[in-house]
This record gives sequence, structure tokens and C-alpha cells, in this order.
Amino acid sequence: MKSFEKNIRKVEPYVPGEQPQKKVIKLNTNENPYPPAPGVERALKSMDMDRMRLYPDPTAGELVKALASYYHVDEDQVFVGVGSDDVLSMCFLTFFNSEKPIFFPDITYSFYKVWADLYRIPYECCPVDDNFRIVKEDYYRENGGVIFPNPNAPTGLYMELHDVEDIIARNQDVIVIIDEAYIDFAGKSALELIDKYENLIVVQTFSKARSMAGMRIGYAISNPLLIKYLNDAKYSFNSYTMNQAAIVAGVEAVKDRKYFEEGVCKIIKTRDWAKKELERIGFSCLDSRANFIFAAHPEYEAKELFELLKSKGIYVRYWGSDRIEQYMRITVGTKEEMEALISLLEGRML
Ligand SMILES: *Cc1c(COP(=O)(O)O)cnc(C)c1O
Repeated sequence: MKSFEKNIRKVEPYVPGEQPQKKVIKLNTNENPYPPAPGVERALKSMDMDRMRLYPDPTAGELVKALASYYHVDEDQVFVGVGSDDVLSMCFLTFFNSEKPIFFPDITYSFYKVWADLYRIPYECCPVDDNFRIVKEDYYRENGGVIFPNPNAPTGLYMELHDVEDIIARNQDVIVIIDEAYIDFAGKSALELIDKYENLIVVQTFSKARSMAGMRIGYAISNPLLIKYLNDAKYSFNSYTMNQAAIVAGVEAVKDRKYFEEGVCKIIKTRDWAKKELERIGFSCLDSRANFIFAAHPEYEAKELFELLKSKGIYVRYWGSDRIEQYMRITVGTKEEMEALISLLEGRML
């Protein structure tokens, strides 16, 4: 080993779902099967090239303003970034700086562990129960911060807001981050608690319900003080994170509430239909409140089904890791895509 090796910051990276370049039925990374709001395309097509020549507004002011108005908060309560992964990573860097471990569930978004390792943040995983539910009492002990998604991923389970509030209220000495990547498919957001708790940050994304994973837009909403700390960290890292096209497109997406709400309804309807169909052919599915279904079959190995689907051009997500080795996570696509998936699986089960 070269002696410089010992001082290199090494980390085991997050492994994203595959992005195959050929045409497949892609149900593996929770993208939205429908296009973004029509205004997004119009705005991008008519974008002024002179704005491309210049650096973008480092504050992404237009997008911050659109989000503030949509969520009825002040502009100094909104932070935007390059997807919620960027926002979450900034939050880890800014707020998780204690000697005490941060807490997150054992079955959850696997990026949390990677950021904790990268930034040398001690952490402790709190096991979800046998039904994959987060046990709120586990978070009532002393810690250096708390983060969990609601609904949780990859289970899709939603925690009622009063339980989320209990966790926030019991941890007022540290920062609590609620990762609401899937909240639009679920239920009440913790955003309504922002004014009540000074330690709360809510993070959301344009990647799922707003059909804009390719544009990379995420945001955090909190109180002005915590947003200021986040901006200070961001401006010490990279001032121009949001590119001009993303800012313009993001503003248009936020404007079109009707298109957004109709799209979310369509996916919820397909999800609930697909879940019944999967159960009809013998799968057991968790009560998903997201745009994916976490499913296991008592008689077939998840790995075998995953590989069978893949060989036929249908991509789903499978980890094979501890506690979830029998589960596949299936993104809710269009009704036609879900029909193709179910008929293939049913064929195997005959
Ligand atoms: C998809 C996802 C994100 C990240 O989404 P971005 O595309 O980076 O906005 C964050 N958290 C969870 C739980 C997710 O599933």
C-alpha cells in the first residue's frame, strides 16, 4: 500500500438503480411514468440562450419564490438544491456534527449510511419492527440528530403525523429531518409543524410526484435560522448548484397545481389496483403509500423473480440484503406497464 493511501478519504458509495440505455419497462427507480407539466416543455423550448451564457442566479430566487408561495411560507424558509440528494447531503454536513450518533431506521434509504460514513458522522440504526414499522420510542434516547423518510423507503409505509410529531417533540435538542420524497402519494406532511418546532427540517423533491428526476431539483423547508445555516454551508461548497434550465423548469412545474394533483391521483389508483392484482397471484404487499409496492411471494425466491422479469425487459429493484431478501420493490408505472408485469409473474406461477 502506498503511504498516501492512509490519508485518502475512502467511502463505500451508494449504488443507484440501473439506468439501462435500451428500451425496457422501467419500474426500478421510482420515476414517474408521465411527463412533467406541459408548461415545463414550453418554458425550456423558449429559454433565452443569453441566460445560458451567464451564470445562474446563485440563490435560484425565482424557484425559491415559487415554492414559498406554493407552500405558504416565507422565501427565507426555503432552500433548493440539485435533487433532494444534494439537499440531504448538505443537511448531513451542516446539522449532524455531534459526537453522539445520529439515528435512522435499519431498513431505509441506503444513502443515509453513505453520507454518515463520508462525513465521519457516528450513527445508529434503529430496527423497524417485524411489520417493517418504525418504532417511535427507539428515537426517544439521547442522540446527535434524527432522519427518516415518511413514507419510508423501500417499504412505502406511512407514519401518521401525530407519531412523527412525537419524535420531533422528544428531540428538541437536535435537528430532526423528515425526508418526504413520497409524501404527495401518502398523507399529511410535516410541513404544518414547521412553525411549531425550531428543530424540524422537511425535505422534498421534484423527482417523483413532479416527474422531473432528470432535472435534479430538491428542496428543504424549515425556519429562517436553519435555512441560513444550510445556505452558509452551500456557499462554502459550490455557489451555483442550480442550473438555469432547472430553475426555469421548476418554476413552471410548481405553477401547475391541477396537472400535478391529477397525476398523483392516477398513480395512486394504479398502485391500489396493482397491489390487489399482486395479492391475487399470491404476493404479500406492504401497505404502500408511495409510488412503489414492496412485495414478497411465499413460494418463489425474490431473486429468481427479479431475474426472470429482467430477462423479459421489466426492471424492478431487488437488494437481497438482510431482512428484505424476499422482497422486490416495484415502481408504479402506467396501467399497461403494470399489466405486463403482472401477466409475466402470473405466467410463472401457473
Ligand atoms: C428518491 C429519493 C430521494 C432523492 O431524490 P432526488 O432525485 O435526489 O431528489 C431522497 N430520499 C428518498 C427516500 C428517495 O426515495
